[in-house]
Amino acid sequence: MILAALLETRAREQPEAMALLAPRCLPQTYAGLWQQVQVLADRLAAAGATPGVPVATVLPNGPGAALGFLGVVSRFTCVPLNVALPAEEMRFYLEDARVRFVVLDQDLDSPVRQTARDLGLTVVEIGAGSALTVGSPAMIPASYPDPGDIALILHTSGTTSKPKLVPLTQANLLASARNIAQGLALEPADRCLNVMPLFHIHGLVGVLLSSLAAGSSVVCAPGFSAAAFLAWVEEFQPTWYSAVPTIHQVVASMADQYRSRLPRHRFRFVRSSSAALSPVTMRLLEAGTGAPVIEAYGMTEASHQMASNPLPPGLRKPGSVGLPAGAEIAIMDDAGNLLGAEQAGEVVIRGPGVLSGYGGEAGKTVTAFTHGWFRTGDLGRLDPEGYLFITGRLKEVVNRGGEKVSPREVDEALLEHQEVAEAAAFGVGHPTLGEDLVAVVVRKAGSHLDAPALRDFLFARLVGYKIPSRIIFVDEIPKGTTGKIQRSSLEKRLGPLLAVDFRPPTTDIERSIESVLRTILGVSRLGLDDNFFALGGDSLSGIRAAAAISRAQGVELVATALFHHPTIAELVQAVERAKAGERDATVVLEREIDAMSDEEVERALAELSGSAGSSGPDAP
Ligand code: AMP
Repeated sequence: MILAALLETRAREQPEAMALLAPRCLPQTYAGLWQQVQVLADRLAAAGATPGVPVATVLPNGPGAALGFLGVVSRFTCVPLNVALPAEEMRFYLEDARVRFVVLDQDLDSPVRQTARDLGLTVVEIGAGSALTVGSPAMIPASYPDPGDIALILHTSGTTSKPKLVPLTQANLLASARNIAQGLALEPADRCLNVMPLFHIHGLVGVLLSSLAAGSSVVCAPGFSAAAFLAWVEEFQPTWYSAVPTIHQVVASMADQYRSRLPRHRFRFVRSSSAALSPVTMRLLEAGTGAPVIEAYGMTEASHQMASNPLPPGLRKPGSVGLPAGAEIAIMDDAGNLLGAEQAGEVVIRGPGVLSGYGGEAGKTVTAFTHGWFRTGDLGRLDPEGYLFITGRLKEVVNRGGEKVSPREVDEALLEHQEVAEAAAFGVGHPTLGEDLVAVVVRKAGSHLDAPALRDFLFARLVGYKIPSRIIFVDEIPKGTTGKIQRSSLEKRLGPLLAVDFRPPTTDIERSIESVLRTILGVSRLGLDDNFFALGGDSLSGIRAAAAISRAQGVELVATALFHHPTIAELVQAVERAKAGERDATVVLEREIDAMSDEEVERALAELSGSAGSSGPDAP
């Protein structure tokens, strides 16, 4: 079977049932969705697309992104891209996946338009906002793909310096979607509130396709918003939502509001995946929502889910990612032998959702299979009851609250700066994200390059979540006996450097900014050089902090100010420059924060990372 057949069957069997809903948008039935999917596919066919041709979608998160993905995947190969990618990264993805057509939101003012022109790509525009319209039918006889054809191309960060391309077939996606729907016992009456980005496997398969496979409905939110979450729950009465742990932490912290505002609402379950959920967050979320929290283990290369804790009355084990669900799972040693229960080794998988090999330039040289098993790069053990525990990682990836960053890609971007002699990015523990990204840099002789300038340089090259929250200049980067940088030991070896000497705020402006950040972070004191992100700040709280500082200082700081200036010392300089009438050179969004509506703040978040995975806790 192929995805088009699934949508067509649903439209025939339950034409009036709701398929897609969204805030401030007319709902779409299964019949309406199938019609719109065909209209978009016809328009692409009329423009020259044929099955197997890669078509990129660059659409803001929401119903338009869902429709764009389904329209493309119904006949062609979809390459969903984050609207927030800087031009250079966008170009890399378009070229690496050999994209020929791009589906764009007609209202989106993005550098992708110029890139598409430069690369000679055909652009098809749709109304991706509230209208959910793609145009009128082109009346072309449809030509459909086979189950083994590539339906979706995503990229994954890994040990290579550039992301590898992950091609997934129609059959891979359907197998995974059906397996998730079955495991969660999804029915037509279920409704998922989607807060995950629809250019990542979690949102696309874990939420959207699994829901459609079960004939249930999906509310396509623009992303996660702490401010709007309860209003969406009230309006749409979802029976579940799926998210990364950073989002669950925020929801758990809103438990009192949830119960008082919506005393009768109950999620049937809440699902967590993409990063480790701490048993504490799981307990708080279960207590707060009154719903079982189901932690699952997913990966792009497996079309998302590989293991999941079962629904009640099955046993959920906090700290475990559950039982194999979607893939066969084993533990392998370095020599390729499968290990027994309680023995730790690399998690290996095989099954109908698993890719058959990487693609793209970086994927060419990667062999990820041993004896027919795909090696995940994660370390783990199976307990005697078959529950999987993830204990570590072999691959060089930093999991920043669900967003995966390849430190080598960041090293290379840093090394592009002409004053950088050596650079190494690495992960350090973080209270809310799980892991955060830090970089150490050796300057070339005579250089006075500073962290804000280097961060700005990176912003032009990398999407927001790949920018290290701290850049530390050193004389030398510690190396192993072979002269190679040993990334995994950098946090330990550079420990003293990561700790910051305490310089108390003394001037009025320093004290005022300190008070804002201290309140938002919920810490007892903050020094001038303490890094907002190292102390638990993240994109959502960063935007709130920028708004509060702007109000207090009567200046126009941009929404992303904290990402460019994450310490009080740097913020003071930015505020002083703004007071002197200088426009901040780092302006990403030329908007006065005070004048921003909730929606605009959400958009700012999306522009920063384009992903709900980087949204973190609100002010405590
Ligand atoms: P992605 O391809 O972005 O879905 O990332 C896949 C990786 O995320 C896995 O290989 C794991 O390292 C990590 N991951 C996913 N789910 C979990 C989980 N529940 N617990 C711990 N790590 C996870």
